[in-house]
Amino acid sequence: MRVRRFTSRFVLGLILGSSLALTPVADAQDTTTPIRDGIPTPEQYISTVGGDSHLVAPGEFKLDGRQQYCGQRPTVIDNKLDDYGAAYPGFLIMNPKLLDRVSTPVKQWIYAHECGHQFRGPDEETADCFAVQRGRRQGWLKPEGLEEICTFISPAKGDSMHFSGSYRCEYMRKCYEDPNIR
Ligand SMILES: [Zn+2]
Repeated sequence: MRVRRFTSRFVLGLILGSSLALTPVADAQDTTTPIRDGIPTPEQYISTVGGDSHLVAPGEFKLDGRQQYCGQRPTVIDNKLDDYGAAYPGFLIMNPKLLDRVSTPVKQWIYAHECGHQFRGPDEETADCFAVQRGRRQGWLKPEGLEEICTFISPAKGDSMHFSGSYRCEYMRKCYEDPNIR
């Protein structure tokens, strides 16, 4: 379920229409502007969730001391997010409170998965593949780390998500081995 929710927030509309890119910068930073097409700006998201949520500039978000990059996309820190991470077109959302519970490779995979949505769209498998191939290329994802990810997405209980988790894991193993970038 947690994995499902990574995408439930991801809206396809603007990837195709890309009107976000056409939005003037001043307008995007004005939190009084109505949210367009259900996709908030980072500032609108922060003003909606409140609490101690805040914005981290592109390239400045760190996981276990390691800087994370997703092009020019900023990261919103939200410890009250009901998941480890999420993505809206244009920015990533990370929940450090939950991320603290998992190992470094799993953390980085979650970030890379959300980044995958930024560049590859809402498909889960494609985002998974993007993440493991990126990890392999950048050197932070070893086979042991991949197994940790598989354990993470495979629920301990034999519920309906188990099949989905195992299936995704199979696909990620294939992607990891594949020298061609998907
Ligand atoms: Zn996802």
